[in-house]
Amino acid sequence: MTLTTPEYPDSWYCASSELLPEQNSLQGDVKADICVIGAGYTGLSAALHLAKSGKRVVVLEAERVGWGASGRNGGHVGTGQRADQFALEKWYGKETAKELWRLGLEAVDLVESLVNENGIECELGKGNIHYAAKPAHAHELREEIEHLETAYDYQQLRGVEKADLASLGSAQGFHYAMVDEGARHLHPLKYCLGLARAAMAVGVTVYEHSRAKKLDVQGDHAVVETPSGAVRADRVVLACNGYLEKLYSPIASNIMPINNFIVATEPLSEELARQINPLKASLSDSLFVINYWKLSDDRRLIFGGGETYSDKFPSSITDFVRPYLLGVYPELAKTPLEFGWGGTLAITRNRMPDMGVHQGVVYYAQGFSGHGVPTATMAGKLMALSILDSCEDFDLMAGLKTRSFPGGPLLRRPSLVAGMLFYSLLDKLGR
Ligand SMILES: Cc1cc2nc3c(=O)[nH]c(=O)nc-3n(C[C@H](O)[C@H](O)[C@H](O)COP(=O)(O)OP(=O)(O)OC[C@H]3O[C@@H](n4cnc5c(N)ncnc54)[C@H](O)[C@@H]3O)c2cc1C
Repeated sequence: MTLTTPEYPDSWYCASSELLPEQNSLQGDVKADICVIGAGYTGLSAALHLAKSGKRVVVLEAERVGWGASGRNGGHVGTGQRADQFALEKWYGKETAKELWRLGLEAVDLVESLVNENGIECELGKGNIHYAAKPAHAHELREEIEHLETAYDYQQLRGVEKADLASLGSAQGFHYAMVDEGARHLHPLKYCLGLARAAMAVGVTVYEHSRAKKLDVQGDHAVVETPSGAVRADRVVLACNGYLEKLYSPIASNIMPINNFIVATEPLSEELARQINPLKASLSDSLFVINYWKLSDDRRLIFGGGETYSDKFPSSITDFVRPYLLGVYPELAKTPLEFGWGGTLAITRNRMPDMGVHQGVVYYAQGFSGHGVPTATMAGKLMALSILDSCEDFDLMAGLKTRSFPGGPLLRRPSLVAGMLFYSLLDKLGR
């Protein structure tokens, strides 16, 4: 298959989506109530919710809508937060941990309701299977199920012991599984393009190929400059996540960009697809560098595995990901991998999103740490509600201050790389 358009990565998502007509780039000076920078889930959700309440919203996107992580990810819509409830209780106390759990569930509901209300065709499916990759992880997952049932009254989980794992499919090498019926999964780029269409239908103006070069707060408003124009707005929503680079230094060292990679097989036979994933769930494992996968509606295995921490992608992404895939499904050794692509996401030190408002004008949300399909969508909504009036859940998230990466924006990478490599090495031990 060939690349649908040279501006998007050569992903199966792009090849299987009906792309938006190319939007104009910003030319000249415009005024808006809110200028959103970045057209992924965060920016588009904020824009949609703001415009529905009558605000004039301009979105600036450096490349194309959904060009970033929102058009490239694994499509898992997981419950809760990226950090588990035990950790959240320890860091923030039980009451706050309960609020965060509630917000995590509401984020999944929000995705589903946006899909349904706006008629977004994005292969929405149900259920996640999370495998224990080490015997010790099986114990942790059992504890987690019990805790979520008793302390959070969450009844959508069930545990599957090693002897029964074959009932979930042919995945190899695991010790236990946690099935979460409350999780969802979808085609990420179709979802993102659907959000953009919904936002544009309620009056949002999206400028593509319009990179914000400078963001200047001037008292009670801001001016955002692109190479060929500028937006003067009362508020700015900064939604660049792993692609923020040096645009706004006050929040840059709260996150670290990392790269993650995905392949898509050729369409599998019905029999093979059923053998691999009879429940049609999304699937993932408990390793530090998590493997995650699902089947597309046309029965391709979409498998994510492997990370890098430099600004380069491997020369062959299919070769890079293949060993991870074959570790789980050796029977796919001869199955062609038709697509391989990568994306950049932002992580925070404690894997909780980094949200807030700076100088009373710049709202930001970033660092969803691999859990952004639901939480970035929710973050956009919470920023919109906070801008429109006030929003307790925005204040809750903004109050969870994450620590910056040591070394600041320029020097943070070496210490992170050392740490990440150490933990990814542990993945290989004790399986
Ligand atoms: C390979 C991969 C797999 C993942 N799998 C999952 C998963 O299965 N489930 C899950 O929940 N999460 C997953 N994630 C994370 C998830 O994709 C992100 O958290 C989420 O998409 C973040 O959305 P966003 O809108 O904040 O950022 P993005 O989607 O990255 O959007 C940011 C946008 O800002 C634009 N931009 C940047 N700078 C500027 C500028 N100066 N001016 C204008 N525009 C600018 C970029 O071009 C980009 O389009 C994955 C991420 C990757 C990379």
